[in-house]
Amino acid sequence: MSFDLTPTVAQHDLARRAHEFAEQVVRPVAQDYDKRQEFPWPVLEEAAQAGFYSPLFYRDLIGDPTGLSLPMFMEELFWGCAGIGLAIVMPALALSAIGQAASPEQMLEWAPECFGTPGDLKLAALAISEPEGGSDVRNLRTTARRDGDDWIIDGHKMWIGNGGIADVHVVNANVDPDLGHKGQALFIVPGGTPGLQLVRKLDKLGCRASHTAELKFDGVRVPAANLLGGHEKLEHKLAKAREAVEGGRHSGSATLGALEQTRPMVAAQALGISRAALEYATSYANEREAFGAPIIDNQGIAFPLADLATQLDAARLLTWRASWMAATGVPFERGEGSMAKLAATELAVKTTERALQTMGGWGYISDHPVEKWYRDAKLYTIFEGTSEIQRVVISNALGAADGRPPMHVDLDPTGGPLNAWFGRGTPARTRAANKALDARDRVPAPVMNLAMKVLRPPSKKPTDK
Ligand SMILES: Cc1cc2nc3c(=O)[nH]c(=O)nc-3n(C[C@H](O)[C@H](O)[C@H](O)COP(=O)(O)OP(=O)(O)OC[C@H]3O[C@@H](n4cnc5c(N)ncnc54)[C@H](O)[C@@H]3O)c2cc1C
Repeated sequence: MSFDLTPTVAQHDLARRAHEFAEQVVRPVAQDYDKRQEFPWPVLEEAAQAGFYSPLFYRDLIGDPTGLSLPMFMEELFWGCAGIGLAIVMPALALSAIGQAASPEQMLEWAPECFGTPGDLKLAALAISEPEGGSDVRNLRTTARRDGDDWIIDGHKMWIGNGGIADVHVVNANVDPDLGHKGQALFIVPGGTPGLQLVRKLDKLGCRASHTAELKFDGVRVPAANLLGGHEKLEHKLAKAREAVEGGRHSGSATLGALEQTRPMVAAQALGISRAALEYATSYANEREAFGAPIIDNQGIAFPLADLATQLDAARLLTWRASWMAATGVPFERGEGSMAKLAATELAVKTTERALQTMGGWGYISDHPVEKWYRDAKLYTIFEGTSEIQRVVISNALGAADGRPPMHVDLDPTGGPLNAWFGRGTPARTRAANKALDARDRVPAPVMNLAMKVLRPPSKKPTDK
């Protein structure tokens, strides 16, 4: 599947429905949930009714070979409100981790438990970070030890979306501390399991409609079947990790793999925040008058907005490319997932700050949503890997790819033998064009027209201006 920016009819419709949902259901209540810092259950219910809250919906989007459905949906939803958006899509993050690690049987068992059904909604959480280590996964101290047919989990988790209120917690724990992060495995801990304790709901700067918590695991006992991927796969992974450690080599981690896959998804959420802020600030600048003219007439106001519009499109292209790569299995060898996350999330902070500045005093108070978007945006340079960690990933990839050409040069080309011989830019095509030009006085006009039809650039569509 080649990279194509044209949406399919279904994608077009998905974006329209998501936008209507964001505009009509999410935006009207966003500030209220933010102020009260309350979980938006009624909005989740409406999302479920609209088909935006189910495992099949997200598997469908993740499985889309064009890669565009997921970022298009995320951008529209988060244009509405990032806090409510996170409350809606949090189970999809857990589902993504389950999808990476689980057996097909486990996927079938737990995916429906992450979302429930309209009228009987359920929640899921992905619990990786700990008080001592968010970025440094080697520092994670939660352990899981085998006890007969069960696993016993002990530890402490921090900043967990839906933590403690979720029906399904996907928990990262160390089963072999000697192997560091390579000795980690993912477990399902159902809500209400004895020993799973919600220490506190965290009081956040932004994205306040989403629930984020500190959790403790005190002798939490889960059956062996809750180890994602199963015993045999774990033993195989540990054996490989031991070999790697003994040989001084590095190997991947399921946890980090899940994050790599979700980075374009998080980038697309940040695009939604940026777009909301840019649109709002532009409308405001068009209407607000100072010194007898709309403030947008001042280049000091208009140029930063022009820069942001440019950077927004650039970040969207990076995000869609990363999402297309994830969907088609092209590895992120140059840190493309991190590039998308870094560009889109840093931009969300910049855009919301600029939108606030554009609105002066009105931007600073909660009569308008911009101050909320400013607070919401800041989370995006922190979670799912901070901006600094994205730079670590990209710079490591740069080092590893030293001397290699850009990604598109490395991709397998499409087009086949005819394209290789007569595609645009080939010597045969240039020769044919030159010959046709030389012969223009001798060749009858209809034949010449036909030759020109083949050789000329693509014509504009009738709708083009
Ligand atoms: C609202 C919210 C929701 C979250 N949701 C979840 C969730 O659902 N599940 C979950 O598991 N986690 C979640 N997190 C945790 C989040 O992923 C971590 O906070 C994040 O990874 C950063 O970890 P840390 O806070 O421990 O910061 P640290 O890792 O301590 O970093 C502190 C600072 O040092 C920098 N730094 C660290 N290492 C390096 C380095 N090598 N080079 C340069 N700079 C470096 C960081 O970039 C940062 O600026 C959430 C966090 C928040 C705030």
